[in-house]
Amino acid sequence: MLTRIDLRSSPGQGAIDRDLLPRAELDVEAALERVRPICEDVRHRGTAALIDYAQRFDGVTIERTRVPAEALERALAELDPAVRAALEESIARARLVHREQRRTDTAVRVVPGGTVTERWVPVERVGLYVPGGKAAYGSSVVMNVVPAQEAGVGSLVVASPPQRAPGNEWGEGLPHPTILAACALLGVTEVHAAGGAQAVAMLAHGTAECAPVKLVTGPGNVYVTAAKRLLKGIVGIDAEAGPTEIAVLADASADPRLIAADLISQAEHDVLAAAVLITPSAELADAVDAELGPQVAAAKHHERISEALTGRQSGIVLVRDLDHGLAVSDAYAAEHLEIHTEDAAAVAARVRNAGAVFVGPHAPVSLGDYCAGSNHVLPTGGCACHSSGLSVQSFLRGIHVVDYDRQALAEVAHHVVALAEAEDLPAHGTAVKARFESGKAGPGA
Ligand code: NAD
Repeated sequence: MLTRIDLRSSPGQGAIDRDLLPRAELDVEAALERVRPICEDVRHRGTAALIDYAQRFDGVTIERTRVPAEALERALAELDPAVRAALEESIARARLVHREQRRTDTAVRVVPGGTVTERWVPVERVGLYVPGGKAAYGSSVVMNVVPAQEAGVGSLVVASPPQRAPGNEWGEGLPHPTILAACALLGVTEVHAAGGAQAVAMLAHGTAECAPVKLVTGPGNVYVTAAKRLLKGIVGIDAEAGPTEIAVLADASADPRLIAADLISQAEHDVLAAAVLITPSAELADAVDAELGPQVAAAKHHERISEALTGRQSGIVLVRDLDHGLAVSDAYAAEHLEIHTEDAAAVAARVRNAGAVFVGPHAPVSLGDYCAGSNHVLPTGGCACHSSGLSVQSFLRGIHVVDYDRQALAEVAHHVVALAEAEDLPAHGTAVKARFESGKAGPGA
């Protein structure tokens, strides 16, 4: 079922050619042209534009974007108790992990009288995008909100697409009820029914209903990603988190049934989702392929899964040995990387590039999606070679506070002047020398 890419005879130890590896062609540049007028429209017409796009892209009539408080309360009251218990567990575990990511200020006494302190300050107001096109990502509310709260962000707004809600009159035009309930559980009171690029534009530019934010985080489809890229600068963004990816690095000891199940679980997200097996064992590759047929046929979303697994972004990569497999997996830099090998922990310790690593047969990506405590908003498209997933750090800024007294400045003044002159910026040196020329010593002299 999966395309095979045989790298066993590829040359030596050199860098792996990333073009040989399967990867979705997510044409963000093309989507940029599509979202540019949408974002401009939201900037000029605000809520009126959002109402129009809800009709056009989500097929629902809305009168405002702001979700009333009663709808949040009602969604929580009507939430299936099993889902509520699962969300509470997910929140508790995510808090345990993210609380440990908090930063403490560090003051370094560089010289007597000269101190540099790094103060960690949360972003004031943050917009969290929670996807809601093909699936309702209640779990993404947890993964966005918990690190923002643990970072101390004061003002949080969640945006998620309005839904058609047949049989649920009160829910028509609102984000999915599980998303609303998750917001209520987490104490988020500002939620907007807005999806896609228009939601990102609402968060960045602000509307009469939604004050602009300083930072937009969260995953989404190509339109969300394109809008984040377009509006970066006007607003801060986290990494571009696009269609999900799983890579599995496995040897002959692995269980093909579990690997097939895990590849399918990610393919279920999206026709653009990527599922890649990297293995030195042709026998395992055959066994996984054999497992996929019946497992895909039995899956609820089998059409979407088949399309994702047969797309050019998915495949089996045959490698010479585990060292070669690790080199390939580092070149691929998967959002999620599962290790199914002998001594999986030792192999995992050697991974350099991945959004998150899942060690051994009892740590499937699905666990990380919901209840491991780790974050599931992770860099995709190879960005894991330079970016991290969402964390408390994503919501903090480090501010250097420079505090030098006269003596400490005097000691280093000649170095500042020398460097300023070397850069042909003599006014920089003059500014330092001025401290020692005037009769006025100032406080702390
Ligand atoms: P979404 O909320 O990202 O997008 C839905 C919105 O897209 C709609 O509200 C609509 O406004 C807009 N849209 C749809 N068609 C459009 C068009 N033709 N032109 C302009 N706008 C249009 O939901 P989705 O589509 O289900 O995508 C969610 C994505 O997020 C998936 O690819 C999934 O894999 C990914 N995801 C990634 C992570 C991660 O951490 N990387 C986590 C969860 C989900």
